[in-house]
Amino acid sequence: MSTKIVELSDALSNKIAAGEVVERPASVIKELVENAIDAGSTVIDILIEEAGLNKMTVIDNGDGIDPEDVPVAFLRHATSKIKNENDLFRVHTLGFRGEALPSIASVAHVEMTTSTGNGPGTKIILEGGKVLEKTSSQSRKGTQIEVSQLFYNTPARLKYLKSLPTELGNITDIINRLALAHPTISFRLSHNGKSLLETNGNGDLRQVMAAIYGVSIAKKTVPVSAESLDFKISGYAVLPEVNRSNRNYISTIINGRFIKNFALVKAIQEGYHTLLPIGRFPIIVLQIDMDPIIVDVNVHPAKLEVRLSKEKELGQLIAEMLKKAFHQLQLIPSGEISKKQKLASEQLQMDLNPLKAAPKEEKEQETAEEKPAFFEEAEEKSQGEPRPLFSQPDIPAYVPPESDASGVREQEALYAAEPPETRAEEVAPEKEPRIPKMYPIGQMHATYILAQNEKGLYIIDQHAAQERIKYEFFREKIGEVSRELQELLVPIVLEFSNDEFIRLQEQKEKLEEVGVFLENFGTGSFIIRAHPTWFPKGEEEETLRAIIDEALHAPSISIHKLREDTAIMMSCKKSIKANHYLTMIDMETLLETLRQAEDPFTCPHGRPVIIEYTTYELEKMFKRVM
Ligand code: ADP
Ligand code: MG
Repeated sequence: MSTKIVELSDALSNKIAAGEVVERPASVIKELVENAIDAGSTVIDILIEEAGLNKMTVIDNGDGIDPEDVPVAFLRHATSKIKNENDLFRVHTLGFRGEALPSIASVAHVEMTTSTGNGPGTKIILEGGKVLEKTSSQSRKGTQIEVSQLFYNTPARLKYLKSLPTELGNITDIINRLALAHPTISFRLSHNGKSLLETNGNGDLRQVMAAIYGVSIAKKTVPVSAESLDFKISGYAVLPEVNRSNRNYISTIINGRFIKNFALVKAIQEGYHTLLPIGRFPIIVLQIDMDPIIVDVNVHPAKLEVRLSKEKELGQLIAEMLKKAFHQLQLIPSGEISKKQKLASEQLQMDLNPLKAAPKEEKEQETAEEKPAFFEEAEEKSQGEPRPLFSQPDIPAYVPPESDASGVREQEALYAAEPPETRAEEVAPEKEPRIPKMYPIGQMHATYILAQNEKGLYIIDQHAAQERIKYEFFREKIGEVSRELQELLVPIVLEFSNDEFIRLQEQKEKLEEVGVFLENFGTGSFIIRAHPTWFPKGEEEETLRAIIDEALHAPSISIHKLREDTAIMMSCKKSIKANHYLTMIDMETLLETLRQAEDPFTCPHGRPVIIEYTTYELEKMFKRVM
């Protein structure tokens, strides 16, 4: 074998670079559209044929390229975007490596027509990296680039491509991200002549979200924003009641670049903490602006990942921003209304997105015909008192609960095993309750409490409600352990395996922060002489074991997280389960206590606690109003 070292030809090094930059049709689209964005375009058309395997065309109205620069643009490391090393750390454009055009041209057939709008434009045709033709052309300002026969000369690449729908999915994904990152640009994506996405470029991020995720989701967003010395964040967070099973709907955009960053995703999840069910993820778009000097975009060839020098600060800012935003909201999800009604109400929302207005007429007709003739008759007949399906005459409506001595015993029974502090009357009422007062009507299947007030009907999951109440109680108590300790009459001795014993030595301090005081007691054993007063009676050992397990299984867990996890665990254990009969007094007490909760809308696992049917929704369902 020859050991002679030779310099690779440009053609070969371009092909190698193409291996990194041009993996699949979607990566070509990404590079071309990013170039169009960098050129200051306001409208970008993307036309795809056969998932990009046949042809991909990108047409922009940007600055265009001077005739003499056109062939240069296809040379390796030729870029107009940075000039020296200094610029590399202050990149304001999406591209800067000067690799995309030569890479694409080395593995495909490329035709580009471009003009700066001054004088004639240029048309250039390349194949396998070689210029086949260069002529003058029309002078409409902007650039059109057409890529066909992708990977014709690199069959290995072709083999790695997935099915057409997958490749097309990757393309739409890229365009969605670019559109979210650039609401002031109008993107129009079509496949085989069929429009897949159209954004209007008016700068309204929520309208871009509507075009991508649908109007009903865009309607369920809250605007969020935050600012610190280093960062400026703005965007829209979709309410936790709408969520997804994966992280793909979390979009973080730094200085106009869509990026993936684990720490930021974590921070967003933290912001939604306990509002989302476990294993579910939010839909959110955040645009983050910062001095380019603190982001290193040059760590990934496709520039998808970035390195942030103040990642932690940014994470905190995001988490706090979200927590604050949700804290100010009334988060009771509305009960499902019938499908047809839903169509009708979604239609009202259609105006949000003019692009989706097309099917409107169709649906309007449907709603107009929705009310069959017999309804009118029925309505006339039922004038006066409505006849309910079943009635509970002994429970008067809207009567606020009065303290009732006979109920106190039952109340006592329900809360016997629980800390007295959770009772409504003892909770300091300094905060404005976040949910309205609700008066119980009755219990259903020993699981749900039905309640009402002047606004409508509420269904409360009694187990979830109590979990939330307990969770907040324990969270507070666990935070103040050192003050309320109770000596054990008989100390508890816990034994552990050798390795656990060693590992626990390191966790001792942390465990003390949550009220577990371990004293070494011979090899492999600890003795515990006291515990916080909030430990449930008769379950001291079990509780200790459970908390210690938490610390053993997640050795790097923070004190904050350990407290929270412990609170969640405690709340779960000690809550009334479904299938538990409650008296009216129990229900009143539970609802009133829930009203004092800081976050009454979800249980600590993120499941909803309350569902609301407004009187208006009910009237609509019963066709009392249209
Ligand atoms: P980079 O974007 O990293 O600079 P590219 O290979 O993608 O490298 O593009 C090379 C150069 O060609 C760019 O720096 C830019 O000057 C020019 N260029 C490419 N596409 C366009 C476009 N659509 N409009 C205007 N100029 C373009
Ligand atoms: Mg580029």
